[in-house]
Amino acid sequence: MMARALHLARQAADLGEVPVGAVVWELASGRILGEGFNRREIDNNPAAHAEFLAITAACQAIGDWRLNHCALAVTLEPCPMCAGLIVNARLARLVFAAPDPKAGAAGSLFTLTTDPRLNHRVTPIPGVLADQSADLLRSFFRSLRRPDKPPTPHFPDPPGALPPPSSPPVPPPTA
Ligand SMILES: [Zn+2]
Repeated sequence: MMARALHLARQAADLGEVPVGAVVWELASGRILGEGFNRREIDNNPAAHAEFLAITAACQAIGDWRLNHCALAVTLEPCPMCAGLIVNARLARLVFAAPDPKAGAAGSLFTLTTDPRLNHRVTPIPGVLADQSADLLRSFFRSLRRPDKPPTPHFPDPPGALPPPSSPPVPPPTA
């Protein structure tokens, strides 16, 4: 399932999105119920994270918001929003690939999914295909920093943005 999630993450990268992919499946049958990849820029939606979309799709597929018989695989440790959704959806299992020291809420920065104060807990299984996911994220951010690469159409300048600093220098005043 993580290989499938990585495939989805690559689709996100091809669209200029931070490459994160997620799959929700039914534990008993192995049937995939929902998939998603990060679409934050395309959808202009701060909630359009891979796991958020996969969980929502799975709930719609089965007509139930409870996923206590399902598992989630995601290529990056969930953020606080998604970890909250994982708890609220009562997912039975959480598997993730790369840890996210900057925003991870399944053990790195916060530990939401096993917080005993919440009414549902899921112990994360980290590190599955972590190297592949980390490589994909690294190469994506490296490609963004390459000065010779034109900006992708998904990062348009906001209206009224300043011109790029590469405009020709003003010639010195003549006497
Ligand atoms: Zn998230």
